[in-house]
Amino acid sequence: MNADQADPDRADNGRADGEEPVVRYEVRGAAALITLNRPRYRNAQNSAMTYALDAAFERAVNDDDVRVIVLAGAGDHFCAGHDIGTPGRDAGVSFQRKAVLWWDHVDKAGADARYAREMEVYLGMCRRWREIPKPSIAMVHGACIAGGLMLAWVCDLIVASDDAFFADPVVRMGIPGVEYFAHPWVLGPRFAKEALFTGGRFSAQRAYELGMVNRVVPRAELAQTAFALADQIAKMPPFGLSLVKRAVNQCEDLMGMRPGMDSVFGLHHVAHAHNAETSADSLAGMDARSMKSAAEQ
Ligand code: ZN
Repeated sequence: MNADQADPDRADNGRADGEEPVVRYEVRGAAALITLNRPRYRNAQNSAMTYALDAAFERAVNDDDVRVIVLAGAGDHFCAGHDIGTPGRDAGVSFQRKAVLWWDHVDKAGADARYAREMEVYLGMCRRWREIPKPSIAMVHGACIAGGLMLAWVCDLIVASDDAFFADPVVRMGIPGVEYFAHPWVLGPRFAKEALFTGGRFSAQRAYELGMVNRVVPRAELAQTAFALADQIAKMPPFGLSLVKRAVNQCEDLMGMRPGMDSVFGLHHVAHAHNAETSADSLAGMDARSMKSAAEQ
């Protein structure tokens, strides 16, 4: 096993939490295992993690020995969502950008800054990762909330443990879903509305019934199942896999996903702007703690 961090030489593999890299990278057989590594904050995704993730995906794509990518979360949960309140929140920090052709958000104001940042770190990065030419498997356990859903959804397959749960509760902020608006395509329109209207959790089993998840297994069998699937896929010819991945993605986009997301991204930013004009900030003054307490009321 060859284990180390995503890219030791890059400043954007942030270490806001001390010595541990925010994303771990290792190779297991034909698979690259990329692990979200802020377990103390349930792997809340800050920009440092986003750019480290991007570097890890790029590394896996460029390594000919890697045939499949497995994305996992360290600790008790896959990912609690975007970082909206840990000490490592870094929404005002500039990083080396390459996902989309947009200017840096840091010296901009208002909708200009928000739109530029979210087009890059949320919508742009997610699209980039969805389109990498190697198959990817999300290995999900525990919480997979809001921005965590985006990370699972950009993977080609999802293997979940039976304790995994999913939710997009951002309507509590008055925002119509997370930036990567795949909900109607991965959940079906009817359940997408229920999940968004209520913000409630749904189980791995429910996600399986909806077709969002490929396999549900006991927690103890999660890694074994995901890597067995990776090994099976790795036997196929790489170029064939890249073409069939593109084929399905192109058809999904012909089913309206890409333009759908673009149109909803506008609604998303109307909501941010409305919040910024009428409340404490673009998130309606809410952070991780207030979102959690709202969910428990
Ligand atoms: Zn947003």
